Amino acid sequence: MINQPGCYYCDRQQTGQDAPPGGWLIEDDDWLVGHGPAQMCLAGSLRIESRRHFTDFAEMTDAEAASFGRLLASLYRAARPGTGAERIHLVSTMDFQPHFHAWLYPRAADEPRRGTTFLNQDMSCAQADAEAAAARIRHCLTADTRLVREILGQPHGA
Ligand SMILES: [Zn+2]
Repeated sequence: MINQPGCYYCDRQQTGQDAPPGGWLIEDDDWLVGHGPAQMCLAGSLRIESRRHFTDFAEMTDAEAASFGRLLASLYRAARPGTGAERIHLVSTMDFQPHFHAWLYPRAADEPRRGTTFLNQDMSCAQADAEAAAARIRHCLTADTRLVREILGQPHGA
């Protein structure tokens, strides 16, 4: 792992501090995905972090760019049924931490605010609601993986 001392994301990956509510949903060679901290997002919001320290898309390897696309497809398939959202908003600014991370914010069908107006609200939720949403999304991610394996004819449980 390429690590930048003093970087919030590099440090937490090394120390295990600030684990996401409900635990990591995805931990692969390139990405970590977990529910966002309850004090800064709505229930069902996911945060994707790169394993490697870099700032934005310009610095991704070809492999990271490809795996990020596949990751988003899988997360959108799971987050929509997992949260009941009509839309999933993808936001990535790196304004506060120059280590690549992206947020997925579910927007419910009955939420009257749209686009940046929806995003520009005070966001927080109860820790228990964050953990419950993470569990529902985890279930949908697992179901998606099983479906892919069935399509490919691969055995379960690998
Ligand atoms: Zn970093």
